[in-house]
Amino acid sequence: MEKTQNSNYQCQLCSKFSEEELISTNLNIQVCYDCWFVEFDCSFLSQAFDKITDKIYLGNAEGQKKKQLLKAIRITHILVVGKDLKIHHPNDFIYKQIHVEDDETEIISEYFEETYNFIENANGKVFVHCLGGVSRSPTIVIAFLMKKEKKRFEEIKKFVKSKRIHMSPNDGFLAQLKEYERKIF
Ligand SMILES: [Zn+2]
Repeated sequence: MEKTQNSNYQCQLCSKFSEEELISTNLNIQVCYDCWFVEFDCSFLSQAFDKITDKIYLGNAEGQKKKQLLKAIRITHILVVGKDLKIHHPNDFIYKQIHVEDDETEIISEYFEETYNFIENANGKVFVHCLGGVSRSPTIVIAFLMKKEKKRFEEIKKFVKSKRIHMSPNDGFLAQLKEYERKIF
């Protein structure tokens, strides 16, 4: 009730009030993120974006192009995990890019501390993406959550997988995450 009074936006589908900006759809109605995700363009966007926690969204390179949606879900920071990936909106979000390839021999763990700090220090929501949102960016998110939540690798991996079913870090990254687990526990 208090929440309703403080909320400015009413979804035209479910009628719920929200503090987050609504999304304008091609049907000329404004909807909340939940409705939009269910009702509109779901097949594409479930791959472009998955909400992992209130703070962290995980996705692919297409997701970063969607400035309006990123703004609508209040993304403030973007962590780009990849060498050849473009930064599309440098004036709209706070970016960090790390140059790792999706290769089993790549030492992604040397970036765990700086990516942890970037996500942890972000006073907003963070979109973490690589090219496909399958191997590199999930690895970074798993490493972050293990340390942040003080939970074991297998538990965090299962949790992230439940939010983003296509995620699958390569074997080299999995080994580095297990090594990281030994280091922080
Ligand atoms: Zn709604």
